Amino acid sequence: MQPERGLVLVVEDEVAIADVIRRNLAQAGYGVVVAGDGPTALAAVAKHRPSAVVLDIGLPGLDGIEVCRRLRAGNDWTPVLFVTARDDEIDRVLGLELGADDYVVKPFSPRELVARVGSVLRRARGPQTPELLRAADLAVDPAEHRVWVADTEVDLTATEFDLLVFLLRRPGRVFAREQLLSEVWGYAATTSTRTVDVHVAQLRSKLREASPIRTVRGVGYAVRQQR
Ligand code: CA
Repeated sequence: MQPERGLVLVVEDEVAIADVIRRNLAQAGYGVVVAGDGPTALAAVAKHRPSAVVLDIGLPGLDGIEVCRRLRAGNDWTPVLFVTARDDEIDRVLGLELGADDYVVKPFSPRELVARVGSVLRRARGPQTPELLRAADLAVDPAEHRVWVADTEVDLTATEFDLLVFLLRRPGRVFAREQLLSEVWGYAATTSTRTVDVHVAQLRSKLREASPIRTVRGVGYAVRQQR
């Protein structure tokens, strides 16, 4: 799949954490490549030319700080978001002037990490026209988490917002409730698919005629293809 928002290299040796990060970034529209150690990460930067690197400091062998130092030594200034388990590591990072763009401290919320990646990329790219998703009278700004119908701003919960953006980014594609649960909520097994119906109903009641979500009987939900 062609990444919609850029490719992010995630460097993390703990598979479970790497997987959570990968899933959340992918859900936010990023392409994701995962590396489990420093040498693999350096090779992956050279091979994939990612837009940003999420770099765990605590790696076996070559640690995250050393990985970043080697990138910079090779005149590679790909934006880096450090992930750390310890506050004192941050002092080291900042003291080295590695051009690290930001950091998050474990345990972090996946939502926060995705937001930080977004801001690191925005800073790296400089001011530009923000992405605005549109469907008839509906306008959604994913970066600012804001939604308008005509010119009136509408308040959505975080989950309603994520569901709407997920579908808007994939117009015309039909998603089963189980798929939406695993893509938007991030889990599938334990929660009833009824949860999806409830959130769609809430979105429809808030967006009224501007709701682009249609029910595909016996299958699931989709957003109408524009134009
Ligand atoms: Ca680690």
